[in-house]
Amino acid sequence: MVAGVNGEQGMKPIEYYNKVFNLLEEHHRWFQQSIPLIASENISSPAVREAVASDFGNRYAEGFPKERVYAGCRYIDEVELLCMEMARELFKAEYADVRPVSGVNANIAVYTAFTQPNDVMMSLSIASGGHISFGKKQFSGTAGSVKNLEIEYFPFDYESMNIDVEATKAKIGERLKANQPLPRLVMFGGSVLPFPHPVKELTEFFHEHGATVCYDAAHVAGLIGGGQFQDPLQEGVDVMTISTHKTLFGPQGGAILSKANHQEALKKAVFPATVSNHHLHHVAGKAVAFAEMLEFGKDYARQVVENAQTIAKELYDRGFKVLGKKSGFTRSHVLIVDVSEIAYGSVIERLLEDSNIILNRNLLPYDIKFGRHYDTTGGIRIGVQECTRLGMKRDEMRQIAEFIERLVLKNEDKERIREEVVEFRKRFQKIHYAFETATEAYEYLKIRS
Ligand SMILES: *Cc1c(COP(=O)(O)O)cnc(C)c1O
Repeated sequence: MVAGVNGEQGMKPIEYYNKVFNLLEEHHRWFQQSIPLIASENISSPAVREAVASDFGNRYAEGFPKERVYAGCRYIDEVELLCMEMARELFKAEYADVRPVSGVNANIAVYTAFTQPNDVMMSLSIASGGHISFGKKQFSGTAGSVKNLEIEYFPFDYESMNIDVEATKAKIGERLKANQPLPRLVMFGGSVLPFPHPVKELTEFFHEHGATVCYDAAHVAGLIGGGQFQDPLQEGVDVMTISTHKTLFGPQGGAILSKANHQEALKKAVFPATVSNHHLHHVAGKAVAFAEMLEFGKDYARQVVENAQTIAKELYDRGFKVLGKKSGFTRSHVLIVDVSEIAYGSVIERLLEDSNIILNRNLLPYDIKFGRHYDTTGGIRIGVQECTRLGMKRDEMRQIAEFIERLVLKNEDKERIREEVVEFRKRFQKIHYAFETATEAYEYLKIRS
């Protein structure tokens, strides 16, 4: 018998064991009946799930294919080489490293390759769409905490929801004049990325001032691979980091793409510097997902952008304050809604979750100015990539906007909407944009007896 957290008598091991599986199955049932709108998530195909369940997940293969420090890698090497080859093709990159186990891990490897402690890095603030991995030490952000980088924020224009090019140049000019150190590394990209960043406009400028330029495409990698968003490497950046599970098809993981001249620095920065074993079952899963993306990515990415623009306009027409109106709300998978006149983002998040609509609260670029923080955000964030993978199109975007309107603006009964959501979801149980779809999207795959 194991003691419970409060010292009371806990469950027997077999009861814990069974309870874990019960919870997993319940989670699957819930997601089968919900509308998934979290912008950083996606669903992987049965093929990717099969690869992830393979024995690769029990093995070690430190190092580079064919240069391992472990035996037993005969097939692992082949799969990893195929994975790298497809990543290079998908992102038109000269070098691909598929070993980082997450997007944050990929960013840490980039910081390791291109900066020294106390260097300055330029990136977006979190409220303007930056990610915690770009963050300052005083906020426990990764770049500050792990590498002691000083962070200088990009000037951000709320109207266009984008980096302000002229103000950025002026900021660098001021640092020059004041004899302050210039950024050694520049991070474009972010976690709220409705519009392409001004990479073409600024990369040469930063290069002239001695910086390495990176683009964090964690969110938009699937759209870049599908040819529906800016193409940072072709626009001149030195290196690009990605997560493999947001707009890409999973499994959870990271990767780095770059020009050939950075290969040696990045290779060492990944192993031995920042990754030991690199979760080989996920490398196999990434390889399967890249194959799916090469085949189906164009159609998928086109539909994702169309769906995001449709739901943005539907919400706006129903009275929601969707940001970025001037530029058409979004050109990616994501949109931001200012709900500050209705309730905190966290309240809306819970209200929708109770009706099986799953999204998350998000800071607005101007929230800090109004004293709002992570729990009291003025915004919510919506991503349509997972719904798109389930085969949803224009009509379904309209229907989802209507559910949200009825819950948030018309205060209709939560329980009633939940029942309608469950009914609506019944028609979308298969993965689209995949070679095989025999197993239902959220089916719980039992391989115990
Ligand atoms: C999600 C995200 C990451 C981190 O990715 P993980 O795979 O969750 O570690 C990094 N950068 C940005 C901009 C992100 O949105």
